[in-house]
Amino acid sequence: MNHEQSRDLYDRALSVMPGGVNSSVRAIRPYPFFVQKGDGGHVVDADGNRYIDYVMGYGPLLLGHDMPESVQSAVQQSAAEGPMYGAPTEVEVELAEFVARHVPSVEMTRFVNSGTEATVSAVRLARGYTGRDKIVVMQSGYHGAQESTLVEGEGDHTAPSSPGIPESFAEHTLTIPFNDREAAREVFAEHGDDIAAVLTEPILGNYGIVHPVEGFHETLEELCDDNGSLLIFDEVITGFRVGGLQCAQGKFDIDPDITTFGKIVGGGFPVGAIGGKSEIIEQFTPAGDVFQSGTFSGHPVTMAAGLETLRYAAENDVYSHVNGLAEQLRGGLQDILEDQAPEYTVVGTDSMFKVIFTRNAPDTFEDHCEAGCTQRTECSRYDHCPKNGHDVKRAETDRWERLFWPAMKEQGIFLTANQFESQFVCDAHTDEDIEETLEAYKTAI
Ligand code: PMP
Repeated sequence: MNHEQSRDLYDRALSVMPGGVNSSVRAIRPYPFFVQKGDGGHVVDADGNRYIDYVMGYGPLLLGHDMPESVQSAVQQSAAEGPMYGAPTEVEVELAEFVARHVPSVEMTRFVNSGTEATVSAVRLARGYTGRDKIVVMQSGYHGAQESTLVEGEGDHTAPSSPGIPESFAEHTLTIPFNDREAAREVFAEHGDDIAAVLTEPILGNYGIVHPVEGFHETLEELCDDNGSLLIFDEVITGFRVGGLQCAQGKFDIDPDITTFGKIVGGGFPVGAIGGKSEIIEQFTPAGDVFQSGTFSGHPVTMAAGLETLRYAAENDVYSHVNGLAEQLRGGLQDILEDQAPEYTVVGTDSMFKVIFTRNAPDTFEDHCEAGCTQRTECSRYDHCPKNGHDVKRAETDRWERLFWPAMKEQGIFLTANQFESQFVCDAHTDEDIEETLEAYKTAI
């Protein structure tokens, strides 16, 4: 493949944008391809190379790159009538109504402009509502570029994970390993009265895809209830993807106090949202006292795109299509790995998938899962799936970057460029795409 245009563009970008990109994960070594346009389940780069796209914007593009007629006309009409107003519009109400109708725990929603803004606001809301400062997050969880969650370390021995964040933020953030119920009980035993919220992704989606073991979320729910703390589900990735329109909380039958959304709910445009019970969400200004505001929040073009995308998903067989194809892909990958690389693991559910360059020994599994796993039926290698970030960290991440990513890209398959980020099947993908992808994996592996 020729990448001359992309290389030249990256050279230009490096002199005017830090690292040549506007989001760090895009800075692929030795240089990323620059996208010229999307086309259904594909993207075409600046040199005219075509790829089957499983990055899908890192999650927002449930339907792929071609907006259905209803989405396209709503977006075009909204943009043509003026991009935004600084006054409320009907479409915001309609999208909030749609979310409340479908997501079990949500009665009210505040829309913002990114997943990060949603989690920042959710943490402030939980702190304001409870009058407490501490939050508990999962090691290797990701909640965007926010000060309170960019921490590393264990338990209450935490430190900021980036320069520029005062130590005092980390002092209020406690970490536990995902899926570790004992650690959750211990942190509450020690700090229960000071914990405003537990913030967790239902499935770790930014660190290899890690599924919850049975009982983990229930334990968090119970500990939060018993201690007057709030459970915040960060459904920025899983929202309107895992479990379809009812989201991961519906699939796992968990009733979080607050849910954060992003990605799909904006139909491909910048978005975030904080949803939950009215009693809590109404603590946001102007109904309550917890300050929250934004020039672009509830942007009419985004709201129109989100609403029409979700309506389209509700009225067509989008979820059965994407989930079916992803299952086919995961099954095919499992067969390939069994033959060629039995030390690797296929993970994922619904339309998410990934190959992890490691495999847990069954005794590691026993360590982490006392009660069996919820995902067994969806992943025949589940006994060997990672149970927390530490398990994923043991993966051969260098190998991914050296061999796997370039090997797939050169065969026309666009995957996330590291071992950690989830990949997604979209509605525009076809059986032929899956077959071609499996052939490419076979060669690469
Ligand atoms: N939470 C989760 C679970 C995410 O995956 C992400 C982004 N991938 C965010 C929050 C932050 O969202 P954004 O990049 O839109 O700020």
